Amino acid sequence: AKHRAGAQGPGQTVVFDRGRHGESTPVSAARQMREALDNREFHLHYQPVVDLATGRIVGAEALLRWMSPHRGTVAPDEFVPILEETGLIVPVGTWVLREACAQAARLTRLLGTERPFSLTINVSARQLREPHFAEDVLALLRTYNVPGHRLVLEITESLFIDDPIQTQQVLERMATAGLRFGLDDFGTGYSSLSQLQRLPLYLVKIDQSFVARLGTGTEATVFVRAIIQLADALRLQVVAEGVETVGQADELVRLGCRRGQGWLYARATSARELTAILDARAGQLAHEA
Ligand code: C2E
Ligand code: MG
Ligand code: MG
Repeated sequence: AKHRAGAQGPGQTVVFDRGRHGESTPVSAARQMREALDNREFHLHYQPVVDLATGRIVGAEALLRWMSPHRGTVAPDEFVPILEETGLIVPVGTWVLREACAQAARLTRLLGTERPFSLTINVSARQLREPHFAEDVLALLRTYNVPGHRLVLEITESLFIDDPIQTQQVLERMATAGLRFGLDDFGTGYSSLSQLQRLPLYLVKIDQSFVARLGTGTEATVFVRAIIQLADALRLQVVAEGVETVGQADELVRLGCRRGQGWLYARATSARELTAILDARAGQLAHEA
């Protein structure tokens, strides 16, 4: 408990919990994460986001992977909670932003500045609370010469807003530089409608749990329709996550959702492969024209 409290920053209290006793010790988990960062074991994979009607790639989401020398590729659900808990999400998140900016710059050179393409980056609520977060992000954009509108920072709804006023200020500072924001896993958390309206949001992502239940005769269709109508009313873009079947894609289009990502289209892949896919498609488009 003492280690946990220390890791969470000054003034934090953590009560010893017998249920947690015997878990993998936070110290060693934290040390592994620290080493992973120092040894450059983190990588970004990219999952294409497509226009559901045409299948055209309109963007990609950067997804963190840990290439552990002992365990192979580890998915973020296993280690992002440890990064959050230990505060290491801040330096790792900075690395993610830098890496994604470098990739955005490469893609801009490949695609030109005209073609719409945005790179989505997951940002932890913890990062938003860092005092220099906005300035650091803006400095990265300048360093890599990336126009703000190329990036969308996604914040997961379940972690959102324990300090709505501060969050609003931080987002607004970055929005003036053209940066855009998305609310991830929408429908699973607790953002209020007034927060949705007040924050400078650009998109909401329909959580994959709703998409998975489309067409199963449950109320999922009703929820998805309601989310899309709400987003339309607030002029927010909607992206559906976890689209796995043609049936789900058709239903989403029918409900008015224009964009999606999921295994039906592509899994997350390396930067190199994403570039190759886009390069091939750009050639194809030029050929068709
Ligand atoms: P998320 O941002 O909601 O990402 C979507 C997750 O759905 C990804 O899992 C993706 O690989 C997975 N997915 C994509 N298509 C399908 C599909 O068709 N079916 C199914 N069943 N799943 C699909 P992943 O990569 O394991 O990421 C899990 C979560 O970890 C992310 O959820 C995000 O909250 C977090 N995360 C990932 N990268 C970062 C990061 O760089 N920073 C932070 N703070 N969190 C991250
Ligand atoms: Mg996301
Ligand atoms: Mg999500």
